Amino acid sequence: MAIERTLAIIKPDAVGRGLTGEILSRIHAAKFHIIAIKTRRLTKKEAEGFYAVHRERPFFQELTEFMSTSKAVVIVLESENAIAKWRDTMGATDPAKAASGTIRKELGASIQHNCTHGSDAAETAAFEIGYFFSGSELI
Ligand code: ATP
Ligand code: MG
Repeated sequence: MAIERTLAIIKPDAVGRGLTGEILSRIHAAKFHIIAIKTRRLTKKEAEGFYAVHRERPFFQELTEFMSTSKAVVIVLESENAIAKWRDTMGATDPAKAASGTIRKELGASIQHNCTHGSDAAETAAFEIGYFFSGSELI
């Protein structure tokens, strides 16, 4: 298995509910290395650029408004198989369908307010990490 990096976001719903520490402790328990981390309130335009693959979906406006309402925590995680491993740690998009023990199952409120984001493939991870972090922040 290869060492990979993935982009995680603790979304505004989770930050607003005071769940940042709980989610960081789950990241620690799953043995990811945190390569870079920052808090950030996305602008609407930044959220639209980040989720551009979803621009034709019916929930695009709602999603990008939600993602730009208040601060998020943006994190670069590294581990073996980090992309799939972080998606397993988060659970399925809809908390009602997520496996027990996952972040979304235990902490998520709805399909939109599902606490965290994770890159879904190597190419999207590279795009998403570069969207928020410069090279000198990733050493
Ligand atoms: P993410 O990309 O945030 O890690 P994901 O890959 O599990 O989540 P996507 O299909 O990429 O799911 O959807 C992106 C985000 O859009 C979801 O995490 C959720 O916040 C929101 N979303 C997805 N489906 C819906 C929906 N049917 N209604 C409202 N919001 C949705
Ligand atoms: Mg996605």
